[in-house]
Amino acid sequence: MTNQAKSPHTAPTGGHFKGPSADRLEELGIVGAGGGGFPAAVKFRTSVSLVIANAAECEPLLHKDKELLHHVAGPFLRGLTMAMEMVGAREGAIGIKEKYVDIIAALESLAPAGVRVVPLPDVYPAGDEFILVHLITGRVIPPGGLPKDVDAVVANVETLINIGLDVPVTHKYLTVAGAVQNPVTLRVPVGITIGEVIEAAGGATVDDIGVLLGGVMMAKPAANLDVPVSKTTGGIVVLPASHSLIQRHNAPWIQVQRIGRSACDQCRFCTEFCPRFLLGHPIQPHRAMQSLGFATGADVAVATLYCCECNLCTMYACPEDLDPKTVCVQNKPLARERGLTFKGDPASITPHPMAEFRRVPMRRLIARLGLGEFNNVGPLTEYAFAPRSVKVLLKQHAGVPAAPVVKCGDRVRTGDLLAIPPEGKLSARVHASIDGVVKVTGDAVIIEA
Ligand code: SF4
Ligand code: SF4
Repeated sequence: MTNQAKSPHTAPTGGHFKGPSADRLEELGIVGAGGGGFPAAVKFRTSVSLVIANAAECEPLLHKDKELLHHVAGPFLRGLTMAMEMVGAREGAIGIKEKYVDIIAALESLAPAGVRVVPLPDVYPAGDEFILVHLITGRVIPPGGLPKDVDAVVANVETLINIGLDVPVTHKYLTVAGAVQNPVTLRVPVGITIGEVIEAAGGATVDDIGVLLGGVMMAKPAANLDVPVSKTTGGIVVLPASHSLIQRHNAPWIQVQRIGRSACDQCRFCTEFCPRFLLGHPIQPHRAMQSLGFATGADVAVATLYCCECNLCTMYACPEDLDPKTVCVQNKPLARERGLTFKGDPASITPHPMAEFRRVPMRRLIARLGLGEFNNVGPLTEYAFAPRSVKVLLKQHAGVPAAPVVKCGDRVRTGDLLAIPPEGKLSARVHASIDGVVKVTGDAVIIEA
């Protein structure tokens, strides 16, 4: 790979606007850029009165959304306005941490009619859709529900930028953080390896590293440095391989079970700090822990189903360093198999009276996670990547893999269509992120420059 010098970021200028429509989002391959990868076209084929921009980025060490609001505010606000038009919303709200005083002031001066900026407490997980909607509207999305159940749609900052730019999604913004020379936020071609991106951040500061994708709380450990960046890779966190977070994310299920069974004293701290429990949802991780021993009843199974996998119980609350989140995840299929969904009246759900006082401040969370030694910055910086090849995955989104429309030997240019959703299936279009010649494999289209 030949990489060129860094310089201040220049925001992309966008395409020839064809007007907001869900069909156009489908054409451009826009999916939720915040992690879930839900096709935006499906999300915006609805009618609600409020669009919420989720700028409540709360993964420790990640700064992508804040940097984008600072440097790419024009396309962001255009995307938000277009999203509001698509769903017929009269109102827009930008939920952003109150600590970003300058950005809030700038957004307030630029925001179009009907859009308000809502400062949020600097707590984890303020960016969870359910928590965000409650913080902004006071409404509680029912268990297993969607924001549209309370007359709202939520979209991530970068998703709205992609809507505002109105060009095929070929690049991804992400923060590279942790044990790297220069923590930074970059715009990278989809399909480049995470190893190349780490190199662009000056490389790792330690020899033996572990890499977490998407943050540290809801992370997926990277199998190796050849993993390609996808449309949903929001962050790359490099840590020493010996760091407790790497050990924890790599712990085998058998170990989680064995230690959990013997050491859980049912203190309930995991439940008492669980953000969804505090919202009033029927989720109780301490009950899930009982499934490791003797209890496998319906109440145990249903107590896991509405876990959002925020990991707060495991990473922060449990005084025994146990892993109730993974136990919840393992129990969910059992609950689904048994059809144990919430059958109550959504109107009866009310937040816990202590909810406001049990919020977890980011500063405390970072200290608890042992991340205090890392430089907690990520300035958005221009970096001219010139990869020799990229591996563009056919599944970078919720649903099924896209089906290739190119064949080996085809020459493509950046933005050309590579794959489309199979007929009638939930999926998303995939586009070329560099110019080159195509090789189609089982799970990806490789482009060689
Ligand atoms: S906090 Fe830990 S020890 Fe306490 S009930 Fe939950 S898993 Fe068990
Ligand atoms: S991961 Fe833990 S704290 Fe988070 S929602 Fe699930 S049970 Fe609650």
